[in-house]
Amino acid sequence: SKACVLVVGGAGYIGSHACKELHRRGYDVVVLDNLVYGHREFAKWGEFVLGDIADPLQLKLVFKTYPIKAVMHFAAFAYVGESVTDPQKYYLNNVAYTLNLLQAMRGAGVDKLIFSSTCATYGNPQVIPIPEDHPQAPINPYGRGKLMVENIMADYAQAYGFKYVSLRYFNAAGADPEAEVGEWHDPETHLIPLVLRAALEPDKPIKIFGTDYDTPDGTCIRDYIHVTDLADAHILALEYLLAGEKGGVFNLGNGQGYSVREIIETTRQVTGRAIPVIEDKRRPGDPARLVGSSARIKSEFGWKPQNIEIERILSTAWKWHSRA
Ligand code: UDP
Repeated sequence: SKACVLVVGGAGYIGSHACKELHRRGYDVVVLDNLVYGHREFAKWGEFVLGDIADPLQLKLVFKTYPIKAVMHFAAFAYVGESVTDPQKYYLNNVAYTLNLLQAMRGAGVDKLIFSSTCATYGNPQVIPIPEDHPQAPINPYGRGKLMVENIMADYAQAYGFKYVSLRYFNAAGADPEAEVGEWHDPETHLIPLVLRAALEPDKPIKIFGTDYDTPDGTCIRDYIHVTDLADAHILALEYLLAGEKGGVFNLGNGQGYSVREIIETTRQVTGRAIPVIEDKRRPGDPARLVGSSARIKSEFGWKPQNIEIERILSTAWKWHSRA
């Protein structure tokens, strides 16, 4: 088999899809997850270690036990609204405990990290599509914490020769085509799973948060990227680092924006269900438009997303959500 990769947060939505892809391509996978938001049944590829990056001794032990060559780090809290009301939770887990992981990596001589960053590090965009060199001015603690880690990794690279790829995700969506894993958050706050829930349970209408934005139909526009394409980008980043390259920061988006109304309408077509809608007020902190330019990762890694049509993204999500 190929190199052994530690996947921290490998029992979550995106982490589990990355594990599936790593396994399929012959890598040895070790999942470390505390199962606070992850699902034990999602960690079905490779070894599973129940544990927490809050615990430096356990991290040390994991690096001692397995011949880990690189780390993918998905173990972050990701509710933007909660990060505003409980910033400590976000700075502790997403920043301080990530520092535990970096320290354990240094101690073990592992110098390759693929980090899940976010378009939330840009704040309100000045240009669309957003390039990587756009100013980073996050507007919530979630985005600020992710930016802090990006800065820490840059300092590690400078001082210690640490190598990292920071992937700034836009809106991850969909599920693997075999529907083995999917988007399952508790509580669920994301648009696509909630629209699909409304398709399944007509007594749970989807609320549209804001219909007076400066967009063609008045609702927010987002860049939805298929989770398998995201996973694929992680493998390319891994191969790049394993080949001795230095790394860098890359946007990961589809390059196309869809409005909330377009997502609901396309879901009606894909599912054949009526989806009840309630028009509601704006959700605080939502920029009108977030669309990324992924030109850099396409040219550097040769990344080619395979699931770019929104119908395809929604139908894979529907397959998982409507499974028996
Ligand atoms: N949204 C909505 N109703 C919902 C959930 C989300 O109208 O029940 C909107 C939200 O305001 C945003 C878009 O859908 O404009 C995507 O939201 P999501 O939480 O999925 O991702 P985010 O862009 O916040 O990371």
